[in-house]
Amino acid sequence: MNHKPLIIANWKMNPTTQKEAEHLFESVEKEVGKIKEAEIVICPPFVWLNSFKVKSKIQLGGQDCFWEEKGAYTSQISPLMLKNLGCQYVIIGHSERRKHFQENDEIINRKIKTALKNRLRPILCLGEEVRDTFDSQGQPLNEMSLKVGEQLEKDLMEISAAKIREMVIAYEPIWAIGTGVPCSPDEAMKAALFIRKTLTKFYNRSVAEKVKILYGGSVTSQNAADYVKGAGMNGLLVGGASLNATEFVKIVEKVVE
Ligand code: PEP
Repeated sequence: MNHKPLIIANWKMNPTTQKEAEHLFESVEKEVGKIKEAEIVICPPFVWLNSFKVKSKIQLGGQDCFWEEKGAYTSQISPLMLKNLGCQYVIIGHSERRKHFQENDEIINRKIKTALKNRLRPILCLGEEVRDTFDSQGQPLNEMSLKVGEQLEKDLMEISAAKIREMVIAYEPIWAIGTGVPCSPDEAMKAALFIRKTLTKFYNRSVAEKVKILYGGSVTSQNAADYVKGAGMNGLLVGGASLNATEFVKIVEKVVE
């Protein structure tokens, strides 16, 4: 496995002008260009992707893609288009897509297959809605393992061992996304272990060890190192904090220092 931590910025539906988007990209690029010890990916809105087709240390990713390559699908963006624009990655199954666009696991599985066919590396987002609590007997309710287990089984249906190596899995508990309530490094580590064990069951240990597992959910420069250095996550998916160039660069620095 490439042991460099992978730090991914998900800009979501921001910024709203090309000028601001270019400024943000350039501000990050200027600083992270010097950092060799991390792999950095920025996922801007589709409309700004073409502005960043540069020979840069930063790799590009889409925030979503459609499950067909081309055709009569008004408004959709295909993995082939993303590839042709210079993207190497694509986020698939983000909880905001699952929630606001009713994306189910079958759709996500189709998108993953088409992305892989077009040599894009899918960043599959998984996570439970409710934080694990305990029943009246003090037994854990296992929200994480139930939900993440089900998503892994359905989203990775018919994905071969050769292909899963190209994927990245982002554990993003929904209750931690954009809430300012991050999950503890221990909880993230438990989820990563569960994901790796499940991949071992589906494939085998050596394949499971090659898949990068990231954490996402209210990451800041204050907690970034706890997940990567402390909990052994292979990187981070950063939403809100990636819109502030100084803060995002600080996150990268904290992870590699
Ligand atoms: C995300 O939406 O993928 C995310 C991690 O958001 P935030 O960092 O804002 O919680």
